[in-house]
Amino acid sequence: MRTQVVIVGAGPAGLLLGQLLHTAGIDNVIVERQTGDYVLGRIRAGVLEQTTLDLLERAGVAARAHAEGLPHNGIELLFSGARHRIDLHVLSGGKRVMVYGQTEVTRDLMAARAAAGLRTIYGAHDVSLHGFDGAAPSVRFTTGEGADTVAQEIACDFIAGCDGYHGVSRRSVPASALQTYEKVYPFGWLGVLADVPPVSEELIYANTPRGFALCSMRSATRSRYYLQVPADEDVARWTDEAFWDELRTRLDPEARERLVTGPSLEMSIAPLRSFVAEPMRFGRLFLAGDAAHIVPPTGAKGLNLAASDVGFLFDSLQEHYGDRSSAGIDAYSDRCLRRVWKAERFSWWFTSLMHRFPDTGAFGQKIQEAELDYLVQSQAASTALAENYVGLPFDRR
Ligand SMILES: Cc1cc2nc3c(=O)[nH]c(=O)nc-3n(C[C@H](O)[C@H](O)[C@H](O)COP(=O)(O)OP(=O)(O)OC[C@H]3O[C@@H](n4cnc5c(N)ncnc54)[C@H](O)[C@@H]3O)c2cc1C
Repeated sequence: MRTQVVIVGAGPAGLLLGQLLHTAGIDNVIVERQTGDYVLGRIRAGVLEQTTLDLLERAGVAARAHAEGLPHNGIELLFSGARHRIDLHVLSGGKRVMVYGQTEVTRDLMAARAAAGLRTIYGAHDVSLHGFDGAAPSVRFTTGEGADTVAQEIACDFIAGCDGYHGVSRRSVPASALQTYEKVYPFGWLGVLADVPPVSEELIYANTPRGFALCSMRSATRSRYYLQVPADEDVARWTDEAFWDELRTRLDPEARERLVTGPSLEMSIAPLRSFVAEPMRFGRLFLAGDAAHIVPPTGAKGLNLAASDVGFLFDSLQEHYGDRSSAGIDAYSDRCLRRVWKAERFSWWFTSLMHRFPDTGAFGQKIQEAELDYLVQSQAASTALAENYVGLPFDRR
């Protein structure tokens, strides 16, 4: 088999890249370890920046997001028992975010890929990357089980490693060529998805003596709530009832009163981590999305960063095939990393501000309270939060 670009991983990064390349007439095959149903079943991010929506539009898959997504003009910060609204729309000069689940983005991209007859190989085992430091890269894998196992190889011009944090792409690069940066936080998020109306029209980020809580949603009838829990917490210890009881204690009286509870559709714990691998290009292999970097979900940046990497990569490949220029390819890693590090900084800062750390001490606690108070009193500080939350503009230097 031969194609122009092999994309490893059918998460949002891989599917979006595949669709954008298709619109430009660039042939691509996606190789994915899991089944399509498994990929669709993963409950993850839910807040899209305008830049992500713009890319979905370029790929021709934004119609349902516009029809069913919930535009949000603000968020609320709850601390010291009171809620304070940050007007994202006004403070960012007219921008907003869209609440539309990653599952739905994935569903739209998969449907468009199927309608265009593009090739996705699900259930690929033992995926390995070859020759990306030379002129003739290829991706090998097996499909089928037992006696029906078939070894396959796809030759290509480029490999896009869109296979997430645990994928094979980053691990295929010699360790000596990679510089990694990591921060692991001493807590995780216990998340519940439930078919109950959201407690508030806008997201509530709460910093309370019992820890952080986030009231989020996926639609007008589906809510997503999170609680800060210790890093070693066992999800099996939690019942729905215990989750709702704990969430109530972390809300203000009005929200507590309005909270509608119900059976959880999903309950899981996600660890919180900041991670960056540099550079993001090795010869004819590009890393994009979680394969290259992870942010704690507090700033809602993970999916949006994956999309902006893909935007830069698409532009680079289009320049290569259309204009016969390697300028975009050569600039890819630096362009991505400038944006990545700004999102890493924001996600780290917002996480540090909104969570209770076991080793903060009384002085650190007072500093956190003073910063929260300053943030909601100062237009300059609120503006800095707003412009990062809605997403920084693309910097194409
Ligand atoms: C539990 C959880 C909760 C999250 N919640 C939020 C949130 O609330 N807000 C937010 O902004 N972000 C959140 N994120 C982050 C966000 O979901 C990711 O940033 C986003 O999914 C990145 O997309 P991606 O395509 O780069 O990677 P992924 O979505 O991880 O996709 C990678 C794909 O590659 C496949 N793959 C892996 N290894 C191989 C291999 N060897 N061969 C072939 N295919 C392979 C995987 O099966 C997967 O389909 C969350 C992440 C997790 C894990």
